Amino acid sequence: MTDADADTVTQEFTDRCGSPPAGVWSAPGRVNLIGEHTDYNDGFVMPFALAQVVTVAAARRSDDRWRVTSLNQDAANGGETQEFGRDDLEPGMSGWQAYVAGIVWALTEAGHQVPGADLVLTSDVPVGAGLSSSAALECATLTALADLGDLDIDPLERAKLARRCENEFVGAPTGLMDQAASTLCQVGQALFFDCRTFETEQVHLALDEAGLELLVLDTQTPHALVDSEYADRRRSCEEAARLLGVPALRDVTDVDAALASLPDPEMQRRVRHVVTENARVLAAAAVLREDRITDLAPLLDASHASMRDDFEITVPTVDLAVATAKEAGALGARMTGGGFGGCIIALVGAGTADAVAARVGAAFEAAGYGPPSHFVGLPSAGARRLR
Ligand code: ADP
Ligand code: MG
Repeated sequence: MTDADADTVTQEFTDRCGSPPAGVWSAPGRVNLIGEHTDYNDGFVMPFALAQVVTVAAARRSDDRWRVTSLNQDAANGGETQEFGRDDLEPGMSGWQAYVAGIVWALTEAGHQVPGADLVLTSDVPVGAGLSSSAALECATLTALADLGDLDIDPLERAKLARRCENEFVGAPTGLMDQAASTLCQVGQALFFDCRTFETEQVHLALDEAGLELLVLDTQTPHALVDSEYADRRRSCEEAARLLGVPALRDVTDVDAALASLPDPEMQRRVRHVVTENARVLAAAAVLREDRITDLAPLLDASHASMRDDFEITVPTVDLAVATAKEAGALGARMTGGGFGGCIIALVGAGTADAVAARVGAAFEAAGYGPPSHFVGLPSAGARRLR
């Protein structure tokens, strides 16, 4: 919906600021094809950018202030406007505007001259569904401000700055995947990303050529205990790496020997997930390089089983969605994102995503769960200027 959204923010900007914007920019949310909880273990991930984006219209101001309106906030009033100046740029700022202010802060910390600006944005990235609406917001803001200020920053550096905003200003301890996906992804490609070296490779994800599509289904499960469970898994992995004498679980080469040397069965399961998941991302990259997309399916299935049984980060709604998608003909399916709710992805025949989603909806109703929502995930472009 990029064109319509670009028209909307252009019009809203013009109405609110009295003159048209200097430009319109967008940055996408993402879905992770495979590689879950591998990022903080220095491992591999493989996201692709969605067609769902944050779209922002912006222009410079003559003073050192930023005024930002999100048309998604308090829509009844036509959007919520927040304003801040340089003195307000304190890490830990509350509210959604922290994602915007944090970008100004991160750019400034890195020595860039960020111009004051008015911004009006809208988004069709589902919020809090694990599709990274936060990184989309950060990267759209950064792309706009970098252009307005003529700042010369390459896409990987942009991702790092946006991550710094999220980690240090907003205070969410995430890896680099979301921001890297939002700035680096390309149409029709997945991004094979090494979370240790930050090496990237675009791998062709020609779903349509293979007669396939990727269903993204949001279970709409309210996330509970996510932060504490995430911290627990992270701690367990770091402790295991310490016991194994390696810098990170990415460095475990002989999984059987590693498991045999760990005392605790739970820790063994955690390690097995991370080590086998890394191997699955490498296998998925090989599969895509050779355009053998259907061979992704067993990797997706194995990834889900590993998250369910070894890493123990799935929940009943997610497991039901995956099992039902498979029964309805999906070649492979897995939870995507950090866990404890959120979305599943399913590799399905072209034109069948709606039918598969309908089957999951029926199963949810029978189980007494609320209705899920869904869309077809299209590998799309990273952050860019639209007009
Ligand atoms: P996710 O990134 O998985 O969607 P997060 O909790 O990381 O979930 O980020 C969601 C937060 O990002 C929201 O609570 C809000 O603060 C901010 N956000 C995302 N999209 C928008 C938007 N369109 N307008 C205002 N704030 C937004
Ligand atoms: Mg996020």
